[in-house]
Amino acid sequence: MEWKWKTIIEPFKIKSVEPLGITTRDERKTVLEQAHYNLFNIKAEKVLIDMLTDSGTGAMSAAQWGGVMNGDESYAGARSYYNFEREIKRLTGFSEVIPVHQGRAAEKILFGVIGGKGRYIVSNSHFDTTRANVEFSGAQAMDFPVKGALDFGKPAPFKGNADVAAMEKFIREKGAKNIPLCVMTVTNNSLGGQPVSMENLKAVRAVCDKYGIPMFLDCARFAENAYFIKLREKGYNSTPVREIAEEMFELADGAWMSSKKDALVNIGGFLALNDKDWSAKARQMLILTEGFNTYGGLAGRDLEAIAIGLQEVLDENYLQYRIRSSAYLGEGLLKHGVPIIDPPGGHGVYVNAKKFLPHIRPQNFPAQALACALYLEGGIRGVEIGTLMFGRRDKNGVYQAAPMELVRLAMPRRVYTQSHIDYVIEVFGWLARHKKAIKGLDVVEAPPILPHFTAKLKLAK
Ligand SMILES: *Cc1c(COP(=O)(O)O)cnc(C)c1O
Repeated sequence: MEWKWKTIIEPFKIKSVEPLGITTRDERKTVLEQAHYNLFNIKAEKVLIDMLTDSGTGAMSAAQWGGVMNGDESYAGARSYYNFEREIKRLTGFSEVIPVHQGRAAEKILFGVIGGKGRYIVSNSHFDTTRANVEFSGAQAMDFPVKGALDFGKPAPFKGNADVAAMEKFIREKGAKNIPLCVMTVTNNSLGGQPVSMENLKAVRAVCDKYGIPMFLDCARFAENAYFIKLREKGYNSTPVREIAEEMFELADGAWMSSKKDALVNIGGFLALNDKDWSAKARQMLILTEGFNTYGGLAGRDLEAIAIGLQEVLDENYLQYRIRSSAYLGEGLLKHGVPIIDPPGGHGVYVNAKKFLPHIRPQNFPAQALACALYLEGGIRGVEIGTLMFGRRDKNGVYQAAPMELVRLAMPRRVYTQSHIDYVIEVFGWLARHKKAIKGLDVVEAPPILPHFTAKLKLAK
């Protein structure tokens, strides 16, 4: 639909509502202390606007809820599996479709098959669970983000791209035989939900072809990426988003997806590929850890909802609203002088806490401190992507400063309205005026793997 108005509206009406968790500042102060300044430890009912993640937090449509009732719960050969498989094949073109309960299960299985000591996985950027699964297999996860990706304040259309020359140089140094896979994360979650251009996907593909390395997509947000290509890349502005998405998949040998993102469901995922040997090994692991081939850790109703969600997400009215929502939040923050990754990515806005809170040293976790302040003052929950998440410590246990200190404000899909976002912007305005009072944090305890989920912290002296 052509939209000639300045105001982009939510292209849906609301059929079912859920009350928000309204608390006082005093309550939140106690909640925060009891949670050891780790927002993953807070009960969701104590959160007003939950921007912790866009993963599994979206609202399903009436059509998807209808699909839930139609779910076929047969153990083997369920109709819902075939609907799921048909939709994924139509979109991706890959012949082997393996359902899993969420994205990281696909990663665990795939890297169990192809990873191992002495091997390297190359990428524009690995997402944190991807990196953890690569490393758990014994392999190393190597990121090659495009130059300028870390230049957060400087806008560019495709900051999710890979640095193709650097990637090729690494492949040549280590030898292609030690590199079983190149994975392109679309959009690039760890670096701001920034899109990857078709041109870059093609260039990476060409390098992979040259060295005989398969290229996969970690395609959690493939539809948002495709829509950015339509908006920003030359030659695509009148191409239907579905065709753009199909072209992205055509360039790849396989993909995995956390369906909790662009499949518009609360749980689910898949691994899809053409290689018969890899898929046979993956299915062996699937049966050990997830379930039989035609449900893979999901209920029939989940498979049904994913099949419908994968169609709905390519609706261009939805994508226009979706991308506009993140941009709107980003513009609001910039007006208050809050530094962000500019332009905002697809699934949220990433605040540059290093720049916003220069008085807090990396060892005192400025991004975590900002995330806690945001909760304390406004009941808003974001997530730290910084020194705590990356969790690199030297042999004396001292945290090594991460290259970035970000607070991600993720946007759940079809959940919050514009007034909710206006509220978030207002709270940030207040924080911007009182930021000198925000204090850093110290870690009390933290595990070695994915420390940010369970670390305990306290206010720094
Ligand atoms: C969410 C995500 C994953 C992991 O998926 P889960 O469903 O959370 O297990 C992997 N890669 C990317 C890019 C993601 O955004």
